[in-house]
Formats: sequence, structure tokens, C-alpha cells
Amino acid sequence: MLLQYIYLEEGILLQGVDVMAEKELQTCVRCHYVADKEERYCIRCGAPLKNKCTKEKSLLHKGCSKVNKADAKFCSDCGTATIFSELGLI
Ligand SMILES: [Zn+2]
Ligand SMILES: [Zn+2]
Repeated sequence: MLLQYIYLEEGILLQGVDVMAEKELQTCVRCHYVADKEERYCIRCGAPLKNKCTKEKSLLHKGCSKVNKADAKFCSDCGTATIFSELGLI
């Protein structure tokens, strides 16, 4: 029982290390600041880090919050301009 417990502890520890190693990063398209994947806006220049679709919720449409590739000028789901395109970042 004790051995099994230690093994499990090691498994968790190793998994933790893997997560750290695979931590994803993203680069600001405006100033090339390297930010964590979870960050939504660049802390250096304030530019958005996620290239979101700009289609807003209206009476006729539920809106679109698709996050597109960094070089996408238009949303791959609905064809609306992306936030990077609107702000002239790409
Ligand atoms: Zn920036
Ligand atoms: Zn869209």
C-alpha cells in the first residue's frame, strides 16, 4: 500500500513538471512581447493577444467569439473582420 502511494505521488510530480515544460506562450503582434497563453492583453503595449472575431451580439445574431489564428484578418467561422485586423495590427 505504501509503495503504491509513493508511486502515485511521483506520478503527480512528473505530470506537474511536464505541464511547466509545455507551458504555451504567445507573442504580441505589435511589440513582440512574449506573454503567457492565459494573458488576454499585452502588458507592454495594451494590444489584444487573442485574435478574436469582432462580430457582436445583436437581435439577429448571437455574435461570434471565435479566436482566430494570429495572422487571420477575417474570422474563419463567419467572415467578419478580426480584432487584429480592425486595430491595424496585421
Ligand atoms: Zn505588445
Ligand atoms: Zn466570427
